[in-house]
Amino acid sequence: MSELGDVVVLGAGLTGMSAAYFLRKGGHDRVELFEKEASAGGLVRTLTFGDYQFDYTGHFLHLRDDEIKGLVEQWCPGDFERVVRDARIHSNGVFTHYPFQTNLHGQPLEVVKECLLGYIAARARDGERPADAPAPTFEQWILDGVGEGIAKHFMIPYNTKLWGVPLSTMTTDWMNRFMPQAPIDKVISGAIGLTDDGAGYNASFLYPRRGGIQTLSERFAAHVGPIELNREAARIDTRARRVEFADGHAAGYERLISTLPLTRLCDLVVDLPAEVRDARARLRSSSVWSLLLGLTANHTEGRHWVYVPEESYPFYRAGCFSNVSPSMAPPGHSAIWVERSYNDDRPLDADAIRDATIDGLKRMGWLHDESEIAVEQQLRIPEAYVVYDHNHAAATATIHAWLNAQGILSTGRYGQWNYSSMEDAIIDGRRAARELLGVAATPNSTAAGADLK
Ligand SMILES: Cc1cc2nc3c(=O)[nH]c(=O)nc-3n(C[C@H](O)[C@H](O)[C@H](O)COP(=O)(O)OP(=O)(O)OC[C@H]3O[C@@H](n4cnc5c(N)ncnc54)[C@H](O)[C@@H]3O)c2cc1C
Repeated sequence: MSELGDVVVLGAGLTGMSAAYFLRKGGHDRVELFEKEASAGGLVRTLTFGDYQFDYTGHFLHLRDDEIKGLVEQWCPGDFERVVRDARIHSNGVFTHYPFQTNLHGQPLEVVKECLLGYIAARARDGERPADAPAPTFEQWILDGVGEGIAKHFMIPYNTKLWGVPLSTMTTDWMNRFMPQAPIDKVISGAIGLTDDGAGYNASFLYPRRGGIQTLSERFAAHVGPIELNREAARIDTRARRVEFADGHAAGYERLISTLPLTRLCDLVVDLPAEVRDARARLRSSSVWSLLLGLTANHTEGRHWVYVPEESYPFYRAGCFSNVSPSMAPPGHSAIWVERSYNDDRPLDADAIRDATIDGLKRMGWLHDESEIAVEQQLRIPEAYVVYDHNHAAATATIHAWLNAQGILSTGRYGQWNYSSMEDAIIDGRRAARELLGVAATPNSTAAGADLK
């Protein structure tokens, strides 16, 4: 029998639901799962406006862990289908295949030449950097890997728009499986038009036939046991091991699993020591603004999403939910989204960006006339992208070490303060549960990971 006492889990996104499920499955019933919203799911939610449905920007499922695959099969029978990615890049006025580096064909010839020469020069420098001294910045990693041309025409402008910070201030700690590599035969083949769409970890993905990605979190919510909704943690006293909620409710714990963003968790702790407060002040992130449009036409030619590196377009990516799942809009219509990141150094003027976005969509050909807009909504995702700058590793280590010593396990994409996927969230929850139960934990799937697109 487990000697573990009361466990409080904060946040009923995929990580929190997974933690509660695996604790209960492991025989531990003294678990309370609290969620501040009226429904579970966190970012894995779908909004419905009239006849159109939108996720919190593109959320596409990849599974590689057998136990998680088994759960999804058991809990979501027949819900998901495998979709082969149809992604493009829009730059220099043309749409080319993704990934850029292995699909240069279609770009202006001068661009293709510059990219190839840069790539060949980068290969000639292979081996100059010692194997035990990786590129010191994300920018340098790009230049080493693909050369100056591909860096200049896609990798640097696109990633700068997405992360919202200069890439010279970022490390490479987050990458692992998320950045596709570019072998020389593929770069040359792609430059002469031998198209290869199949690269990268996301060449195909799983997506619900109907209901949007929220189907996944709804199915999970139905199987994880009780969830206390509308309970927002407002104060944590680590000495008393007690959480107070905004509605006056309180819960004592022996162990606390938090899936809140690490910054917000620190802000709730009333007795945070100075060095942890300093570390918390060094954590940086970028938020995402998204424009959701339900259109009475579909001009997207079946594309699932398009990467837009040029600064003259205010968004880094645009996508079409109803091309992934036709149930998301009426036949012949489209449910589209765009994404832009913002932060303190790159503030958002939502009105101006909205107008520039409409203009950009028209220039891209996805919108012909504003009379086609049946639904228009704006969405914000705070702290969507954790920034891996040079403070990240030391600051997160300081915070986690102190929290662990107080019996608090902060986990999940935002709890760990990393870049990771929906499956990682489920794995993180399982790992946290097993750690508390004293069961040998399976290794963290990513520890850090990155954009999933
Ligand atoms: C723009 C974007 C695109 C993405 N695309 C993909 C993709 O294509 N594929 C993929 O696999 N992953 C994708 N992800 C990642 C995926 O969304 C996350 O990995 C996953 O949803 C994290 O789940 P979580 O439970 O850790 O966090 P969250 O989903 O953030 O859940 C945390 C929960 O805590 C609750 N909460 C917050 N504060 C409190 C409080 N004070 N008290 C109580 N509850 C509280 C929140 O309401 C929320 O329900 C994407 C993420 C972003 C930002």
